[in-house]
Amino acid sequence: MADETAAHDRSAVYQCELQADHPGSHMSLAQSFDDRNVWLRWADRVRELVELLPCPASDGDLDDPEGCLLFRGHPGEHTFTPGVVTYGREASPKMQRRLDDLLAAE
Ligand SMILES: [Zn+2]
Ligand SMILES: [Zn+2]
Repeated sequence: MADETAAHDRSAVYQCELQADHPGSHMSLAQSFDDRNVWLRWADRVRELVELLPCPASDGDLDDPEGCLLFRGHPGEHTFTPGVVTYGREASPKMQRRLDDLLAAE
């Protein structure tokens, strides 16, 4: 029987999910659980996995509420805010590999 384990098939590059031009480190959602999320955090000299509570904000629409997809206390606007540009920056190729290593070590 063939081994169907994909050899490190990268589904996407790591991209920051915060509002473009935000201050501080870049953040990309790595894993999602019921009530908590694990984020990749990186900056020039930082890379780490951090577990953060979801952002509790919602756009307040009673019929079809839309929640913010970020973490509690994030910088910048919520993801449902009209006109907000997210996915501001991709990690550099070198950092992509480092983030891969970080996740693989989990
Ligand atoms: Zn960023
Ligand atoms: Zn938010």
